[in-house]
Amino acid sequence: MIDNPLPPGSTIGILGGGQLGRMLSVAASRLGLRTHIYNDAPGAPAFDVAAETAVGAYDDLEAVARFSERVDVLTCEFENVPAMALEAAGRTACLFPPVKSFEVAQDRLAEKDFISGLGIAVAPYAPVATLADLKDAILRVPPPALLKTRRFGYDGKGQAGIHTICGAESAWESIGEAPSILEGMVAFEREVSVIVVRSHDGSMRYYDLVENVHKGGILDTSTVPANITSALEKEAQAIAGNIAEALGHVGVLAVEMFQTGGASPSLFVNEIAPRVHNSGHWTQDACLVSQFENHIRAICGWPLGDVTRHSDAVMTNLIGDDVDAWRQDAAEPCAALHLYGKSEARPGRKMGHVTRIAPKA
Ligand code: AMP
Repeated sequence: MIDNPLPPGSTIGILGGGQLGRMLSVAASRLGLRTHIYNDAPGAPAFDVAAETAVGAYDDLEAVARFSERVDVLTCEFENVPAMALEAAGRTACLFPPVKSFEVAQDRLAEKDFISGLGIAVAPYAPVATLADLKDAILRVPPPALLKTRRFGYDGKGQAGIHTICGAESAWESIGEAPSILEGMVAFEREVSVIVVRSHDGSMRYYDLVENVHKGGILDTSTVPANITSALEKEAQAIAGNIAEALGHVGVLAVEMFQTGGASPSLFVNEIAPRVHNSGHWTQDACLVSQFENHIRAICGWPLGDVTRHSDAVMTNLIGDDVDAWRQDAAEPCAALHLYGKSEARPGRKMGHVTRIAPKA
């Protein structure tokens, strides 16, 4: 717990040096705060914009501890920081969000159990540790279904579709026989997410609900406003708030959901991210205070900033060689270009994003 807001000039330690760390660092600097960034490889995107940097493995607990001794507060820009590193870092500096948020988000089974335990709807699921478990689970969660590894899955990685009961063996093999969950496919009409920020005193602010379109498992566009009723938007925000509260979360939490269609649309939580999220990048250009700044404010014990949206927005990710169009993107009116400073545009790699804004309809 931080009793008093950390004053400008304080140093925020960030575990992880990707684009999220980079944008957190830029937001911190706008408030007169410094960042010290730890990453497991040199040349990280966030290193270009940090006051101090450190390179070390995440399981080098001594290096992590040395890093955390030099900062006033700690946060992470990715959820898969090993539990031991979080613990080592948290011994010398306060860590926000709390370890609990990471424990839940790192393991799809813990995540589903936690969320459904709060009475919130999730897709039908069953734990899978062996092929025999999977064959058994298919009877309870019939195809079409997805086999998802419990850990280290992101952007659709670590997943295999099961379309008939004969598909068990090949799916099990394709995810490397790793501990998993079998999850029923939700016939959703749209994917939405809530970006909520929670402060030390438990107060929360919600950004407007955003509608997301994925291509090949990777986020392609995020659009606000989402094409959803205000009653359903309030319900989605209440769900996200319940989860943040139950975790004792401090900072930004992203909650991804499926919305089914028909006469009585419903929401199913897909997953949570205890950090700033790609589906919240639009807040940089369409809100007074972005998700990045509000995460920094929350972890530093500052008052939360205004989340009001002043414009409609569509954020488009620049994946792989999409980034080659940077000149056209830079010249486009009402478009804000964000590039992450990555030198090599590999397929599937997030290189930047463009947010196109328009006056609120
Ligand atoms: P995830 O890694 O769980 O976020 O999954 C990546 C994407 O796969 C999601 O954004 C959805 O488009 C799709 N997906 C994941 N789980 C399901 C599900 N249970 N039903 C339908 N589509 C899904």
